[in-house]
Amino acid sequence: MNLSLIVPVYNEQDNLPLLFESIKESMDSLGKTWEVIYVDDGSRDNSLPVLSAQAEKDPEHSRVISFRRNFGQTAAIAAGLDYSQGEIVVLLDADLQNDPRDIPMLLQKLDEGYDLVSGWRKQRKDNAITRNFPSMLANRLISWVTGVQLHDYGCTLKAYRRPVLEGFRLYGEMHRFIPVFANSVGARITEVVVNHQPRRFGKTKYGLERTVKVILDLFTVKFLVSYSSKPIYLFGGTGMGLMVISAFIMLYLMIRRLFFLVSVTGSPLFQTSVMFFILGFQSMLMGLIAELLVRTYHESQRKPTYTVRTRINIDD
Ligand code: UDP
Ligand code: MG
Repeated sequence: MNLSLIVPVYNEQDNLPLLFESIKESMDSLGKTWEVIYVDDGSRDNSLPVLSAQAEKDPEHSRVISFRRNFGQTAAIAAGLDYSQGEIVVLLDADLQNDPRDIPMLLQKLDEGYDLVSGWRKQRKDNAITRNFPSMLANRLISWVTGVQLHDYGCTLKAYRRPVLEGFRLYGEMHRFIPVFANSVGARITEVVVNHQPRRFGKTKYGLERTVKVILDLFTVKFLVSYSSKPIYLFGGTGMGLMVISAFIMLYLMIRRLFFLVSVTGSPLFQTSVMFFILGFQSMLMGLIAELLVRTYHESQRKPTYTVRTRINIDD
């Protein structure tokens, strides 16, 4: 299998027939073997019957997974990844806001030697105030924090080589952070401008509150990619910093006491110093506990702390 498309579907009954056509049209022109996995995320409308009918009509390409309830877009994508077989994976929304006709262009970029090609909705057709503006700020923040330079993390339409999708699981709203995880395993990443359509049928499932979730997820992701194999650097670094500040304050207080006879305990700096010392020491201890956890995490799953791109004269 060359190519797997993964499409999360939640209450999209009116979009699906057009989507089927559009996917078939752009896939047939490619000359690759392909499958599309529709993940019905507990839809309450007619999406599942529509999908089942399609699977029956086109058993060669169309596969369907149906959740017992709504677990969210990220979970739907994760399931699609688990059940797909293609060497290349393309993710795509079901609401026709992404255009399947862009897929050949993404694949061509992969052929140029990239492991991940990200779609960029340069002319995005969503609500400017609740979606586009906060999303622009979030994109900049993510790029700045993670060092992965992309304009549009939120665009579902992206193409991936399978190996860069292995080695991490998706939680919360984290599908937009796949490029960050992929970058941490050494993927070559690029982006291309893709079409974006306004939604014609059904309505969006998200609003402003999503930006908050994205920012919280960013903390977790940054910690995971930067410190998950060496948490003591973060906790110990913070702890040592606090203890050094504490020591300087104490030194200052002692000098004042010795040469200018100012009482040590009368100054609020004294409490500050003691507090910084305790916090710093605690933080170091937490770092040590985190180091133990990391060993459990990597060793229980036999997860290596590195990723290999090629091997020469070495078998599996
Ligand atoms: N979706 C999903 N589960 C959810 C919410 C959304 O599978 O809980 C799907 C939805 O059917 C669509 C895609 O995820 O295919 C993107 O959702 P939506 O169009 O509402 O997001 P937006 O384009 O407004 O960011
Ligand atoms: Mg949409």
